[in-house]
Order: sequence, then structure tokens, then C-alpha cells
Amino acid sequence: MHFNELNLSDELLRAVEELGYTEMTEIQQQSIPLLLEGRDVVGRSNTGTGKTAAFGIPAVESITEADRKSAVILILCPTRELAMQANEEIRKFAKFKEGVKSSAVYGGASMEKQIHELKRGANIVIGTPGRIMDHIRRKTLRLDNIRTVILDEADEMLNMGFREDIESILADIPEDRQTVLFSATMPKEIMAITEKYQQDPVHIKIRSAQKTVELIEQFYFEVAMGRKTDALKLLLTAYKPSSAMVFCNTKVMVDQLTEELVRSGFRAAGLHGDMKQIQRTQVMNSFKNRAAEILVATDVAARGIDVSGVDAVFNYDLPQDNEYYIHRIGRTGRAGRTGTAYTLISGRKQLFDLRAIEKYTHAEIREMPLPDKADIIAMKKESLIKEISEAQAGHNAYDILDRLASQGIDYREAAARIIEKQLKAETDALPDFESARPLKKGRNNGAKTVKIVINVGRNRRIAPNFILGALVDATGMTGKDFGKIDIFDEHTTVEVPEAESEYIIESTDSIKINGNKVEVKLYKGSDLGARRNRRPDDKPRFDRKKAAYGNKKRAELFSDYIPNRKKRMKKRH
Ligand code: ADP
Ligand code: MG
Repeated sequence: MHFNELNLSDELLRAVEELGYTEMTEIQQQSIPLLLEGRDVVGRSNTGTGKTAAFGIPAVESITEADRKSAVILILCPTRELAMQANEEIRKFAKFKEGVKSSAVYGGASMEKQIHELKRGANIVIGTPGRIMDHIRRKTLRLDNIRTVILDEADEMLNMGFREDIESILADIPEDRQTVLFSATMPKEIMAITEKYQQDPVHIKIRSAQKTVELIEQFYFEVAMGRKTDALKLLLTAYKPSSAMVFCNTKVMVDQLTEELVRSGFRAAGLHGDMKQIQRTQVMNSFKNRAAEILVATDVAARGIDVSGVDAVFNYDLPQDNEYYIHRIGRTGRAGRTGTAYTLISGRKQLFDLRAIEKYTHAEIREMPLPDKADIIAMKKESLIKEISEAQAGHNAYDILDRLASQGIDYREAAARIIEKQLKAETDALPDFESARPLKKGRNNGAKTVKIVINVGRNRRIAPNFILGALVDATGMTGKDFGKIDIFDEHTTVEVPEAESEYIIESTDSIKINGNKVEVKLYKGSDLGARRNRRPDDKPRFDRKKAAYGNKKRAELFSDYIPNRKKRMKKRH
């Protein structure tokens, strides 16, 4: 459906046309007509589907001559960036329409300037809940004339702890208003707000998970524990994206990774919530104008930020929520362009979580081998050939060649030396990846191991092959992934790769071994008890006296287990 099929004023149609929009997105098609009618709407649709226009166009359209003096439309956004972005977009819609005055208010910026704008009769006010509350308290913003209130990225605002502010703002706005809520996810808290503050809302849900990710090619790489940074450098060197986003789960990781990338010569910049507003704006600008090619960010900092032309997204950490995955990769392949998403995983737990994401998004995430140094050198050779064949030489260069020749270094040798130097400069710093995939190579791969303990032993006639069989069965790992198995009277310990221990414990949650329901936990005790029980040939032995001692020791050890932490994908509350 085309915008001009809506009953919009010429001024708005012209603005929309100038922005290059022709067809409406799904959320726009479904919500704009309802919003123009004044209905309450709950709109659920993924990032990048054009929600700003969905509420911004009706908002601008509704402004009339009579709205010259005070705020009539209030838009709440979770972050300063989003408020600024929405404001910019709304100003574009209002470009040809007179009398629309929008103003963005957010923390970390001058209060006076905002007060000034509000006083001059801003009729569309866009802001973060905290700063809006500030203005309400100072009476620099009055809500008496608000007839439409819009909560953009409502789920994120709740996640950020704005619930009280939001409720207090909603309670202060005249009741016969229009209440509009947009969100990418619909947790219980949002439903509660909807019920409490909306009137007969129309629910719109765009099932666009597949749609938005359709144009995005998705790959994953298995990377040895602790080598993700090296893997990322290889990938960035190999694919050379001119604009890429890298997602981490923590602010600390963002800082560390950015620093490491910069140190390795990449033009990277980090973005997270602890940074000052001015820094964040600088970072965003440098990424937008391509001074920085790589933006390393947390989910919240990057949420909703609209940068076009991102050609690759890297998930350095797996997202903590399936929905985040869609948001992250939605940064690339925007507005019909294709993009690529790469996810780095270490350990079987992450592979397991990735499979869950794949199921959730109904998208195929294909495994790809990491390019190795030889692949990259081959690529560099190609690009050097291209570069040299397109380059021009001047008389200084010939002069140098002639002088070298007079020293016995002929042209071929001279050229070879220069090329070698160039090639080295570009590839020498590349990390080596001999053992990128320890999971498939089996044990004793240098990978750190820990022990798990299973609460059955010789007393239940347990033999090592029972244990191994059950573990392989429950985890889908191979026998080689497991190390030494020690069977004691009432328990058994098994050496496992540290990276896999959490996954193993989780996937053996309800297994039976030789008909016995068992519990599998991380073994936290020292090896002392086990060693003392050992015969010289290193086989645990059965000895009543020692067994009694062993029991006592064992009791201590058992009390010392780390409880079975089922750290499933952390749900956003
Ligand atoms: P969301 O809020 O759903 O994450 P945005 O409102 O930020 O999405 O829009 C994402 C991008 O799509 C923006 O660059 C916007 O200009 C563009 N866009 C929105 N609507 C249309 C449309 N109908 N046609 C083309 N581009 C659009
Ligand atoms: Mg948005």
C-alpha cells in the first residue's frame, strides 16, 4: 500500500516522498489509519520496520492551527539517542507543514535550552521519561493539553527501570487522550500498562521475525575458548566490512574489545550506557560518517539506533535473549538491502543456545570454518595484484630501481622485496589458528578441564562404559570429549572440558545410569580425597577402613559442591 492511498495532507505526502518512501511497511499500513482515527493502539513489530513513521506521521498530521501554544503530543523514548532520532525524523515529516514545533528533551543536555524550546510553544515533545518528569516537576512542561501519548520501545523503557516514571506521567495526562504503545516484545508488564492506561486498544502484531531476517545471511563460527578476539580480527581482515557492528553483552567487554581492536589497527569505537552523552554522540557520528568502521556496542546502547549501510553484524557474545538476536542482526540488511550476520561461539553450551535461537527465528544459521591465515594471504595476494596493476609509477621510482640494479639487485628482485614487505605488513599481525575447533578434536587438546561428579559408584555396579555411554547419550558429545573416569564407592568423577561443564551438567539434568536416577554436579573438592583412596597403580581401590574415611571426606566434599546452577538463557524480566 502506497502512502498516497492514505488520506494525508499534501504537505505530509510531499515530505514522505522527499524521504524516498513509497510503500508503507506492514506496521505503518496497519497502524497509521487507526492512529489517524484516534484509536488506542498496541503495536508490536521488530526493529527496523519503520515504527517512528508509524506514529510520527499521524502525530504531525494531527497538528492544527489551534495547537500553537502548548504540548499536545508526548512521545516517550528509552534513550537520548532515540529521542533525538525520533525528533529528527518528525521534523522531516513536518518539513512542509507550518505550525509544527517539535522538541526533544533528555538528560545530559542543557536544561535551559530545553525550557526555552518548550516555552516557545513546542507542540510535539519527545523525551526520556526521567527528563520529562524533571520538566513536569519544574512546571516547564504541562500535560493538561496532551491528547496523544506515545510510548516508543516500551519494553526497553521498562527494562531500564522507567516504569514508575511512565505510570506517573500517564496518570497525569487527561483521561480522554489517545494512548499508543510500540514495543518489539510484549512482556507481562506491558500488558499490565495496556490494561491500566489504554482504552479498548487495537493490538497489532507484525510477525516479521522471518521477514526482517530474510535478507540477512547468517553464519556461525566455532572458536576455541578464549580466542574470540583473535577470531574476530581474522574475520574483520578477511571480509573487510566497511561498516560493521560488533555486539557484546557487557560494558567491560565493549571497552576491552574496542581497545584491543584499535591496538591491532582497526578503526573501531565502543558504545555503551556508561559513556557520557557527548562521547556517545561523537561515537555515533564517527560511525555514521565512516571515520570508525567498526562499532562495538551493548544491546541497550545500540537499540533502535538507525544507521543505514551496516554491511555486517558480529555477535561476539551470544545475546542473552532470543529477541535480541533479531534486533542485533536487524542492524544490517535494512530497507531491503542484504546483509550478513556472523556469530562466534565457544563451547557446546553456546552451540546449544545458538540452536535455540535458530529455532526461535526460523532462520538458518550456517556453520562456516574460520578463514585461516593462508586463506587471508591468498586474498591479500589477489588484492595486491589488483592494486599494483592499477597503480602508476613515476620517475623517482624508476630512479630507485636503476640505482638498485647498479648494486646488483635486479628489477624482479627489487619488486619482490617491496611486495613481500607490503604483504607482511598486512598479514603479519594476523593471529594463528591451529586449534580453532577443540570440540571436534577430542580431549587433551590443551583445553582446561574440570571434573564433574555423579552420585553413583561401585555400590551400584557402575562401570566406566556405563558412565561414558550415558554422558555421550545425554550431551551428543563424543566419547573423546570426556577424560579420565574415576569410580569410587558411591560416586564417580569424570574429567570434562571446562568450557563444556555447564552444558554437560545442564543436559544431564534427568539422566539414568544403569537404571539409577543420578545427579550430576560440578566437582569442587580438591583431589586429595580421591588420591588417598588410590592404589599405587592409580586405580581407586575398595578398602573398608579407607572407604569409611573416604565417606567422611566425601561428605565434606559433597557439601562443597557448587549447586547445579541452571543458568538457562537469562530471561529479561
Ligand atoms: P523502528 O523504530 O521500527 O526500529 P525506524 O522507524 O527507525 O524503525 O525505521 C527504520 C528505517 O526505515 C529508517 O531509516 C526509516 O527512515 C526507514 N523507513 C521507515 N519507513 C519506511 C518506508 N515506508 N519506506 C522506506 N523506508 C522506510
Ligand atoms: Mg524505533
